[in-house]
Amino acid sequence: MPSETAENTPAMRQYHRFKRRHPDCILFFRLGDFYEMFHEDARIGARVLGVTLTQRTEGVPMAGVPFHSAETYLRRLIQAGYRVAVCDQIEDAAQAKGVVEREITRLVTPGTLTDETLLEEGQENPLCAVAVLEKRGEAGLAWTELSTGAFTVARIAVDALADELARIAPRELLYAGEDEDAEPPERIAQAASGLALSATPRPPGDFRAEEASEALKRQFRVASLAGFDLEEDDPAVGPAGAVVRYLLETQRTADGAANERIRHLQPPKRFRRAEHLVVDQTSLTSLEVERTIRSGETAGSLLGALQGCVTAMGKRLLRHWLCYPLRERAAIEKRQDAVAALVADTALEGRLREALDGVQDVERIAARLGVGRATPRDLVALGTSAGRARALADLLAESPALGPFAERLRAGLASLDELAARIGAACVESPPAHMRAGGLIRDGFDESLDEYRSLQRDSDDWLARYQSRLTEETGIPTLKVGYNKVFGYYIEVTAAHRDKAPDAWSRKQTLKNAERYITPELKEYEDKVLSAEQRSLQREQTLFAELCEEAQGHLEALRAFAAVAGELDVLACFARHAVRRGHVRPAIADEPVLEITGGRHPVLEQRLGEGFVPNDASLGTGSSSEASLALITGPNMAGKSTYIRQSALITLLAHTGAFVPAESATVGVTDRIFTRVGASDELHEGQSTFMVEMTETANICHHATARSLVILDEIGRGTSTLDGLALAWAIAEHLAARGCRALFATHYHELTTLAERHATIRNLNVAVREWGEEVVFLHRILPGASNRSYGVHVARIAGLPDPVVSRAGEILDQLEVRSAAGPDPSPAAPESSGQEDGQLSLFTEYVDHPAVDELRQLDLNELTPLAAFDRLRALKARVDGR
Ligand code: ADP
Repeated sequence: MPSETAENTPAMRQYHRFKRRHPDCILFFRLGDFYEMFHEDARIGARVLGVTLTQRTEGVPMAGVPFHSAETYLRRLIQAGYRVAVCDQIEDAAQAKGVVEREITRLVTPGTLTDETLLEEGQENPLCAVAVLEKRGEAGLAWTELSTGAFTVARIAVDALADELARIAPRELLYAGEDEDAEPPERIAQAASGLALSATPRPPGDFRAEEASEALKRQFRVASLAGFDLEEDDPAVGPAGAVVRYLLETQRTADGAANERIRHLQPPKRFRRAEHLVVDQTSLTSLEVERTIRSGETAGSLLGALQGCVTAMGKRLLRHWLCYPLRERAAIEKRQDAVAALVADTALEGRLREALDGVQDVERIAARLGVGRATPRDLVALGTSAGRARALADLLAESPALGPFAERLRAGLASLDELAARIGAACVESPPAHMRAGGLIRDGFDESLDEYRSLQRDSDDWLARYQSRLTEETGIPTLKVGYNKVFGYYIEVTAAHRDKAPDAWSRKQTLKNAERYITPELKEYEDKVLSAEQRSLQREQTLFAELCEEAQGHLEALRAFAAVAGELDVLACFARHAVRRGHVRPAIADEPVLEITGGRHPVLEQRLGEGFVPNDASLGTGSSSEASLALITGPNMAGKSTYIRQSALITLLAHTGAFVPAESATVGVTDRIFTRVGASDELHEGQSTFMVEMTETANICHHATARSLVILDEIGRGTSTLDGLALAWAIAEHLAARGCRALFATHYHELTTLAERHATIRNLNVAVREWGEEVVFLHRILPGASNRSYGVHVARIAGLPDPVVSRAGEILDQLEVRSAAGPDPSPAAPESSGQEDGQLSLFTEYVDHPAVDELRQLDLNELTPLAAFDRLRALKARVDGR
């Protein structure tokens, strides 16, 4: 069979050996200047990458990409959710005896990327491992950002898993699975559903406590995990060990050998939920913190509105701070102090931004150094960035509020100076993208490199000088020093002068009229020149490796610098935003209050500018209203959702240390923000809207505390009117009893009577001005209940046909009259349409009342007139809601 022979070449046998080792990866097999894919991989490659599918030999499909542009193709495969094993030639093909030796040098997976070209600058790219301990009701989590070396572990309740995964937003999720097809356990699958990640099963052994703990100890060279605040039986140990093992497997040395440890990986830090304001998955989505619901893009989200950082570290940190707001007042105020200092001194802020502007992605470059994948450009960027640290520290020292940052920088300044000076002296300013052709090291830095280079450059000169010296020494006027490809350098003497050639010269070649010689000096020179190019390249590569090695010695200082630069960048961004948009410093209170004057929606205010109508809010014990729950009624489109969302966003922002869009604000420390708002309905395909609504509400009812903020939009909408009303009513009462701050937007006017029964509930409504037939929404929130819903008006704006709108108006009038007069199920049929009452029975539900049922069940024949009157009085009282 032809394919058998085709598969039987030594190279293909080698290929299959590697493929067997990594069946779950696409194998990039280096052949000459290409990475080739075979068989199914080739088909996938052709489809995803758009490269041509050919045949290596009959029956062996093949597709290839040029090795020098491999990164672009890798990126596309990773984006399409594949993993790639890169198999390189690890010996010089020219020197190979038999088949060239190859080795897997990289496993490229979505969660282990470090190369600049494969990553989004402003986005983290976390790798996360998870294990669920059903019996304990706990989950262990460990996640790392390999591109920065950050490593975090957490022990959480199983029911918080979905929320935390949503905040971590891993690109790749590791779980224990027997083989590469093993599905994640139900719990994990559920918690991760809806997240864009690739799930990777790993050997269950990796997750076992003993093995995991061994891996961690080896990685961090410690005898016990106690220093990391990790007990051996902590559920996070398994996942943490699994992460380390996965990194060791994927991150290999340039010749494919296994690393002993990942040098830049930082010791695990423990994540404590209690240190942060919890923003669960639903709230993160529905408040559009990172991206909008409709387009899924950052533009239009809170992050999009605030983003103005100049460094890559800052851009990533801003997202992080928004997803993990703080809960401790002192910590929040520390950030606020820094923002306030920069708001007060905009010149300082401007200079700070300038100082930060040239700071490259030090964090990720440091990480690439750690995995041995730094490029010449990385090195130079590191040097120039490190060179800015001192000026930055001096600048910070000018402001007492920024002093602590200067202190943090100061410890590493000497180290950074040294690195900057060293790289500055060694490297050119515009380095090449890679070391394949050299060109990184400056002239004058290294003696032997200079010599190789001058050999290349000056060989003609040298030869001319050598020739004239020999001519003089020997007295042979026709002596020539030349070069030929076959014989190399030679000294040529015409036959006539042959006798004058010194004995020390060795004869190389005899021609008809001349003799050619070589001298040890010329031979040495020849060797030098011929290999000068190669040697200069090798020398440069050695120097580059040495510089990288040297830079690794400065990792600590670099990391601290990156952290300080990132934080300052976000704080400066907050300050700039505050100045530009007139945001103020919120007072952070220990009491659970929310007091906002002139509050605005941080995203909408940007779009609407002056047109945005500011509103006040006052909630919680200690607030001016003393009510913890506000019911907001008003027509659709009046601004209810905007109002409750802006209150939640202001609360969230206040906990990040940012200033807030308001004239003034006092925000009590909050443990969680809960949201139940309509917009996320569309995200839950397959579940009924009502089910989703109730699941989310159940979660709120269970977990909201007196320190939580709850916003609810139109609860009960997904079911029949009476069910919905009853549920909304009970939920409002429940939340009011809990004492959590809550904003409840509703179209059930019936709920407004709650305020009369409960001192902690208060009514708000959205102001509307009627103008003849027209209704103008003023978007102003006022105390008190509204009495009409104006839905029909909104329908007109939305373009519902006129006859439908006017008929709806008629029905509404009738219903209003009847509901004022007493319960009567159906309004009259329209005069002209001839419809029967029965066709409008859908309204029965609207005006149906338990009193009606009781009426129906009354047997008048059995009642005395007096008893009948009593029953009537009781019924009337019920209908009136007394
Ligand atoms: P509701 O929840 O009452 O149906 P929304 O909050 O969705 O209404 O608001 C509807 C629209 O009204 C918004 O898209 C926005 O354009 C506008 N709007 C809402 N609040 C304000 C405000 N305070 N100032 C200006 N425009 C607003």
